Amino acid sequence: MTNKDSKAASYPPPTPTAVSAPFWEAAQEERFVYQQCADCARAVFPPRAHCPHCWSQTLAWQESTGEGTIASFTVAHRPGHPAFAELAPFVLALIDVQDGFRLLSRLTQNPDAGLQVGDPVRLVWVASGDWKLPLFEPIPVDGGQ
Ligand SMILES: [Zn+2]
Repeated sequence: MTNKDSKAASYPPPTPTAVSAPFWEAAQEERFVYQQCADCARAVFPPRAHCPHCWSQTLAWQESTGEGTIASFTVAHRPGHPAFAELAPFVLALIDVQDGFRLLSRLTQNPDAGLQVGDPVRLVWVASGDWKLPLFEPIPVDGGQ
């Protein structure tokens, strides 16, 4: 966690819906969950009311490892919302989670950290106001903590 994150409690908060509420409830317990289709067995993320692969409405929540690799990333110098200005520049990344889904998240790492597509990352929970947000950080080459 960076110092910039620890003082950034002014983000716009998440806005859970009936479909995404279980995700956010789990997040507050620092559990990173995703849906899995009972009919085609594929992972579904972000939360949906039906499977985007086979249209089944039978989805079950699973707990993710929170580990994956960077599929793509960019450095945001001018955030889309002013509340994120004090964090800029920061890294936005598409992450291929090893449980079979891709998500967009922010890395806690500085943009000049020498990131590359394919680098392994892991989830870290970052407090923001009353919420805990799932962000990601590179896994050190030596696998240390
Ligand atoms: Zn399905």
